Amino acid sequence: MSANGKPKIAFFDFTSCEGCQLTVVDSLQDHPELLNVVEIVQFREAMSEKGEDYQIAFIEGSCTRESDEARLKAIRERASLVVALGTCAHLAGVNALKALHPLEDVRKYVYGDKWEWYETYDARPIEAVIPVDFAIPGCPIDRNEFIAVVKALLLGKKPPIPDYPVCVECRLKENVCMYTKGKVCLGPVTRAGCGAICPTYGSSCEACRGFISNPNQDSMKDVLAEAGLSVDDIMNIYTMFTTYQVREKLLQKG
Ligand code: SF4
Ligand code: SF4
Ligand code: SF4
Repeated sequence: MSANGKPKIAFFDFTSCEGCQLTVVDSLQDHPELLNVVEIVQFREAMSEKGEDYQIAFIEGSCTRESDEARLKAIRERASLVVALGTCAHLAGVNALKALHPLEDVRKYVYGDKWEWYETYDARPIEAVIPVDFAIPGCPIDRNEFIAVVKALLLGKKPPIPDYPVCVECRLKENVCMYTKGKVCLGPVTRAGCGAICPTYGSSCEACRGFISNPNQDSMKDVLAEAGLSVDDIMNIYTMFTTYQVREKLLQKG
């Protein structure tokens, strides 16, 4: 706690586009009242101070190199609560796509003849390295959900992250289902909370918020197969944001 009794919070970034931190900055502009009840001690995107005394750590980005692990562990040791901010931190997100190719090829593609200069390994969610208390899903996070999560944490409550599919929100919006338009959509297995924004604007859901706790993936694959998709097509749809989870599941199945 700070001298004035406000909880101290800090934001950290690992491998990411920093879009989730930008969403936080954007949210705080609409909700400046939040700054009356917390003290932000570190937030590279928005300030130059680097306080190392904090209770809540919001971490954006994936762990993509061995040296990230020590930094993550140091943050975990200082913070009472660690919150994964966005899909890169929560699920490894798009960063995990490189696992679908030989790592050396990826390094050469990105860094050319300097590929050996840069340390990297397969991207993983921060929970693969440290215990995480809560996650705010999404690529990027939903600004209203971020505010709701912070308020819940300050009240000592569990953050209100839905565990039902995007289809529920989509139906409430009375959208015409993508399947009836001959398109495919991962809404039936994807965690709601985004207001089904993609189908609402005519795009299929690609599961940027990750899967619900008990998705019926086999049934989902049957639906996709009925839509005439090959196994490769199906895996491409499934892996945009969830490569890490899909690979882990396949590895578990052997
Ligand atoms: S989750 Fe998406 S928006 Fe957020 S940092 Fe990662 S790539 Fe950027
Ligand atoms: S468009 Fe997608 S999210 Fe909406 S009802 Fe159909 S499958 Fe579900
Ligand atoms: S509809 Fe799907 S892909 Fe779009 S924001 Fe929601 S969870 Fe992400």
